[in-house]
Amino acid sequence: MTDSPVAVVTGASRGIGRAGALALADAGFDVAISARTVKEGQGVAEPNSVREERTLSVPGSLERTAEEIEARGQRALVVPMDLLDREAVLELPATVLREWGRIDVLFNNAIYRGVGTLDRIADLTPESMTAMFTGNFIHQVLLIQAVLPHMLERGRGIVIDMVSGSARHDPPGPPGEGGWGILYSASKAAFGRVAGGVNAEHRAAGVKAFNVDPGNVITEARKAAKPDDDYEAGFGSAPAEATGKVVAWLATDPGADRFLGKWIFAPKLCSDLGLLPGWSMEGSG
Ligand code: NAP
Repeated sequence: MTDSPVAVVTGASRGIGRAGALALADAGFDVAISARTVKEGQGVAEPNSVREERTLSVPGSLERTAEEIEARGQRALVVPMDLLDREAVLELPATVLREWGRIDVLFNNAIYRGVGTLDRIADLTPESMTAMFTGNFIHQVLLIQAVLPHMLERGRGIVIDMVSGSARHDPPGPPGEGGWGILYSASKAAFGRVAGGVNAEHRAAGVKAFNVDPGNVITEARKAAKPDDDYEAGFGSAPAEATGKVVAWLATDPGADRFLGKWIFAPKLCSDLGLLPGWSMEGSG
């Protein structure tokens, strides 16, 4: 048994969740990691529109992220979970509390990424709308509900919710032509209201919540979808590690409280605080 604080990170098999898990390990947390892909080679990115038929292989796995956490001298706990599976969602915090006895930080990063994500309004179905709001809102709120009693009992806890600029802006074009699907952005807009509610209801009792927007991040899944794109040309992108560093900073620095109630644009905060050596927004594409 160590007395390291414990973070739970969803969607930690790759992308921003992996970066957050590693930054939290660097900051001294033991990290419980969750997603669907357990072993390297099993990862898939499903079609995210009814007009798209390909299921792609994507790198990354919970086992690999766990090795990277352990290489940093912290413990890793692999808890597979599909966001659409309510029992598995609720089993995640229960397993962490059973195995490690505490949860200091919950980083709600995973999303449901299936059909509907990049669909046009005419293509949306009751099924895709139900799946998206179940994965991106309802089950994420259940996860927060599940950790709250423990955090309130201890009188402290931090929830970090991953939001998206698409929740605040109209798309510049149709999905796939420079824009995004309204189902994705609407589910993120709904989720973006949750942190403020946690703060209004529980801040006085020691539990606080942040909304973090990662900007445009070219993850493994996006590279798998369009391997030939020159992603760095034309529009700004930030590395996943920038958001990872911000998440670890919010989880550890008392000065982070000034960002409660704000929409935190992670690349700017990372850049302003110099959290990622060698990277700044100014120097990015
Ligand atoms: P990503 O690379 O596709 O990673 C998504 C993560 O979520 C993976 O670990 C994936 O693992 C997991 N996941 C996918 N479907 C899941 C399911 N049904 N159940 C449980 N886990 C599931 O995505 P990302 O770009 O890092 O995105 C992470 C967060 O940042 C999301 O909340 C996203 O909305 C937000 N965001 C990203 C960007 C960007 O530019 N990348 C911009 C704005 C907001 P498995 O496949 O192994 O389950």
